Amino acid sequence: MLSFKRPVLLAGRLFRNSHSTNGDLSFLDSVDHYFNKAAEISSVDKGLLAFIKACNSIIKFHVPLKRACGKLELIEGYRAQHSHHRLPVKGGIRLGPNVDANETMALAALMTYKCAVVNVPFGGAKGSVRIDPSKYTSTEKEAILRRYTVELVRRNYMGPAIDVPAPDYGTGSLEMAWIKDTYSFLRHTDINASGCVTGKPISEGGIQGRQEATGLGAFFVLREFFNDEDLVRKVGLTRGVKDKTFIVQGLGNVGLHASEFIHRAGGRIIAIAERHGGLVDETGKGLDIEVVKSYHKKNGTLNGLPNVKNITDTEKILELPCDVLIPAALESQIHSGNADRIKAKVIAEAANGPLTPAADKILEGKGVVILPDLLVNAGGVTVSYFEWLKNLNHIEFGRMTRRMEEHGKRVLLSALENQYGNGHKIPTSLRDELSRGNTEVDFVHSGLEETMVTGWENVKKTAQEKGCSFRKAAYLVAIERIAKSIGDQGIFP
Ligand code: GLU
Repeated sequence: MLSFKRPVLLAGRLFRNSHSTNGDLSFLDSVDHYFNKAAEISSVDKGLLAFIKACNSIIKFHVPLKRACGKLELIEGYRAQHSHHRLPVKGGIRLGPNVDANETMALAALMTYKCAVVNVPFGGAKGSVRIDPSKYTSTEKEAILRRYTVELVRRNYMGPAIDVPAPDYGTGSLEMAWIKDTYSFLRHTDINASGCVTGKPISEGGIQGRQEATGLGAFFVLREFFNDEDLVRKVGLTRGVKDKTFIVQGLGNVGLHASEFIHRAGGRIIAIAERHGGLVDETGKGLDIEVVKSYHKKNGTLNGLPNVKNITDTEKILELPCDVLIPAALESQIHSGNADRIKAKVIAEAANGPLTPAADKILEGKGVVILPDLLVNAGGVTVSYFEWLKNLNHIEFGRMTRRMEEHGKRVLLSALENQYGNGHKIPTSLRDELSRGNTEVDFVHSGLEETMVTGWENVKKTAQEKGCSFRKAAYLVAIERIAKSIGDQGIFP
C-alpha cells in the first residue's frame, strides 16, 4: 500500500523532506514506485524483484548524550542495510532533526541502485542521527558520533568488510575522522581499520578528489548529455555546456563543486537557492562562483553578497527560466505543488530523490529531460570506492608508477623534439598531454570520468532501446545487474 506523509519543515521554506499537499508519495514510497515502474519492463522474476526491493535490515538505537549544560538527552540513531548482494554495504551518515527509519531505508535503497548503475561493487546502506546539527557543539557532536560508532560496531554493523559509512547531509571529513578513530580503537587488530569509513581527511587515509567527487560526477554526466546533439536538440538547445544557463539548489558539498565545474566549462550559473536565502545574477554573465564560494564560507550565508539580487523567497528561484535546474539539497524538493511552475528544460538530480513521482510525471509531460539521481550523484560513492581500495592496499595511488612514467615521458618528449626539430614546435596540446600529472588526484579524476561516462552510456543505450526515460533506464540497469549477481550466486541455503 502506498502511504502519504505530511510536509516536514526542516529549515526554512525550502528543504522540506516530503510533501503531501496534492498527494505526493513519501520518500520511501517514491523510491519503491520508481523501482516498480522499471520492474514492469524487466524480465526479472517477481519473487526476485521483491527480494531486491526489500530493505534487508535496519537497526534503531538510542545514543545517550550528557550535554554541556548537564542535561541528559537521548538521541535516535539508525542504520539501514538495504542489500547484501555485495559486501561491504556502503552509504553515508546523515544528521537531521527529522530523519527517521523510512527516510533512512529510502536512502539505503538508492545506494544499492546507484552502486549497481555505476558498477561499484557494494550493497547499499545509510545511517542517520536525529539531531539538528546547528544546535550542538562540536564536542557534543563528537560524543554522539563516537557513541553511534560503538553502537554499530558492537552489533557487527560496521567494518571494512561489513558496512562502510561516509559523509552525507550534515557530516564531512571531520566527523569521518572521529568515526575512524573510534573504530580503530575498538578493533585495533584489524589491519584494514582505516577502510571502515570513507570521506576521511587525507591525513587519516582519505583520498585526494573525494571532496569534489559528487559535483564532478554530476558535471561529467551533464557534459556527456550536452555533447549529444540529438538529445539536446529535442529540448531546443545546442551542443555544449558553454553559455547554457543553470540554477542550483543547495550550496553544500555537491552543489558548490558542481557549480565550480560548470562555471569553469563556460556554463552560466544564473541563480542559487540556499536555505536562508538565494542569489540571482542580473548581469547576464552568470555568477562568479569563486566570489560566491568565499563569501559563503566566510559568512555562512549568501545574504548580503554585493552586486547580485538577494532573494529571501528561495522557492521562487527554482521557478525562474533556465536551461538546467540542479537540485543538490534534499529529497522531495520538486513536488506536485511546484512542478508545473518549473521552467527548466533539463533537470540534473544531484541530490538523492529530489523529485516526487507526481513531479516527475508533470515534468515528463512537459518534455523536460530528467537526468536521474541514480547516475548523476553516483560520483561520491565511486570515489569512496577508490578510497576504500586505497585503504585495503595501504598505498597511495601513483606511488609505484610515478617515476617510471615520468621517465617514459621524458624519453617520448626527447624523441618528439628530435622529430619536430628544425625550429618546429611540438604542438602545445601534445606537450600539455605529456605533462599531465600522475598524482593520486589524476588517478581519481580519470577513474571517476571513466565510471560516469560508462554509466551514462549504459543508461542512454537502455533508454533508447526501451524507449523509456533515463530514470526508468537507470533503475532497469540496476535491477538487471543485481538480479544477475543474485542469480549467479544462488540463494542460501
Ligand atoms: N552520501 C553519499 C551518497 O549519498 C556518499 C556515500 C558513500 O560514499 O558511501 O551517495
